[in-house]
Amino acid sequence: MTQPQTAPAGTGTTTGTGAGTDWRRRAAELDAADPLAWAREEFLLDAAPGVVSYLDGNSLGRPLRATAQRTAAFVHDEWGGRLIRGWTDDGGGGGWLRWPELVGDQLGRVALGAAPGQAVVADSTTVLFYKLARAVVDGAQDGRDEIVTDTGNFPTDRYVVEGIAAERGLRVRWVKTDPAAGVTVEQVRAAVGPRTALATFSHVAYRSGHLADAGAVTAAVHEAGALVLWDLSHSVGSVPLELDAWGVDAAVGCTYKYLDGGPGAPAFAYLAARHHGRLHQPVQGWMGHAEPFTMGPGYSPAAGARALVSGTPPVLAMVPVRAGLDLLERAGTHAVRAKSELLTAFALELVDDLLVPLGVQVASPREAARRGGHVTIRRAGFRTVNDRLWDEGVLPDFRAPDGIRLGMAPLSTSFAEVLEGVVRLRALLRREGA
Ligand SMILES: *Cc1c(COP(=O)(O)O)cnc(C)c1O
Repeated sequence: MTQPQTAPAGTGTTTGTGAGTDWRRRAAELDAADPLAWAREEFLLDAAPGVVSYLDGNSLGRPLRATAQRTAAFVHDEWGGRLIRGWTDDGGGGGWLRWPELVGDQLGRVALGAAPGQAVVADSTTVLFYKLARAVVDGAQDGRDEIVTDTGNFPTDRYVVEGIAAERGLRVRWVKTDPAAGVTVEQVRAAVGPRTALATFSHVAYRSGHLADAGAVTAAVHEAGALVLWDLSHSVGSVPLELDAWGVDAAVGCTYKYLDGGPGAPAFAYLAARHHGRLHQPVQGWMGHAEPFTMGPGYSPAAGARALVSGTPPVLAMVPVRAGLDLLERAGTHAVRAKSELLTAFALELVDDLLVPLGVQVASPREAARRGGHVTIRRAGFRTVNDRLWDEGVLPDFRAPDGIRLGMAPLSTSFAEVLEGVVRLRALLRREGA
């Protein structure tokens, strides 16, 4: 499918090389054949009329129409109507106090491949990551004094790991990963051993979009007698997950990326049932207590995943998360992944034909099975190029030193939108004299 690149970049239309594919027709055909095209209509697209191409759904998903309606209804009927009674009243959907588990179970069913009772929604990803990483290292046997992670991991994960290491007198063993790829089973196998307490990685690398082999990496960590904590922020809602089947010990992730939960939406934590009552997170708050309203002396953790909760659940902020999960449930994660693979493959074809001749490089895996939902491209000067794109209503994001991420959220992104973004980027590079 790659076009021959014998001729110089073409005319500024959508035909790249002299031989030229009619990219507009290709995009239209792909959109017409898209079984998830209906889902795009569920989003509030008209709220951003100047945006011709949104390519940052991997960083902040678009809002759903249902979110606007359901949030307003919640304010009026639930908050306004039930007032303080809402925390405990069961108006059919469970009192608000139960929402961390209620939404956690839906997430488990729809997106995580997790049986009920193992996931909660609460806090931010950073805070939940700290709580679970501490729970794992505190529960490790004597002599297991190392945390294994990789140099390409998301900054918050690296910083929290360093903080925990300092706090608990542990050592961080860094796996050096290629920024254009991500962590491999071989690298993990070489890094873990009898001193490993915790190994932690991102399932999809935020920079390159590399999709780690979570099942095989988890098995490699277990062979060394250690536990694994996955950060699913860039895979949940984009890549089907099988946490139970993979034997994952613990996981966290965002809901404001592919789950469309909105800016600062609460995160989720998963702890496999076999670790409940055995691993304890350190932020012992009243909402994770077995009997919060007894308000007695001494902390006694609730049974199950509830013990991962610390303070009052962010109920209002879970309304959009539930709307996002409802849409994902209708679409199905396998259909989402199928479209995601087509979107990233299409983006790579466009980049190869229209941008590579202008000096752009691909910094993402080419193998579909190792690629998540975004494609990263590199070129000197991309920081200012990204600013110009934003001025033109094309919204990818820039990641230092020289990367632009083209993030494609399968439920809301059309093939025509991807094409528009790449075409505008090309026009910009050519105007600047390439
Ligand atoms: C986006 C992202 C986060 C963000 O964490 P917050 O606590 O929500 O700021 C963490 N980890 C990864 C891998 C991410 O992609």
